[in-house]
Amino acid sequence: MCASRRPCRFTLIELLVVIAIIAILASMLLPALQQARAKARAINCTGNLKQIGLGVIMYADSNNVLPNTFWDSTNSWQPIGGSYKTLVNAYINSQKVWECPSRPGTTWNDVSSTHYIYNYGYCRNKAQESITKPTETVVFCGSYTTSVVGIDSSGQVWPNASADNSSTRLKFPHNDYTNVLWLDGHVSAVKVNGLKASYFNSGWTP
Ligand SMILES: [Zn+2]
Repeated sequence: MCASRRPCRFTLIELLVVIAIIAILASMLLPALQQARAKARAINCTGNLKQIGLGVIMYADSNNVLPNTFWDSTNSWQPIGGSYKTLVNAYINSQKVWECPSRPGTTWNDVSSTHYIYNYGYCRNKAQESITKPTETVVFCGSYTTSVVGIDSSGQVWPNASADNSSTRLKFPHNDYTNVLWLDGHVSAVKVNGLKASYFNSGWTP
């Protein structure tokens, strides 16, 4: 109220009301902002996998087979000419594309470190054209850790296991989704339990 001759000022109550309204608006906007940031990271991750896909195709064109690495009994990726990352990165030459933006905090001093795992069990050393269902064959997918996640001792990727916190299972970095690079070069987001075993073994007959 400004009944007196003094200059008009907000009363304490009015100020408190304004602050309360700002707080309510902020609490409504923040989740939306966080969602937008998560979405931006997922899009960035899609771009990474598309570039990795180009590297895979260039590798396959040059070598007539998909990258050939193997998993040995000492639990480490053993290169045939390099780790799968090294083999593919020779064609795209970027450290950044191997890092999922939703998985920060990793130190990247290891040349074979990546957040994306290769469907080694099915793809390695195969001619691209010998795979009958390229649109349904996983080449790379995102995972929440960099170690032996999602790959057993024979090199087979484990699908449908994202809810499991065991270090041998897939963990999905984008809420309930992970990004998948398919052999035809497209990238899509797949929900938890949406990855079927058949996607990792595309020679299957339905
Ligand atoms: Zn990602």
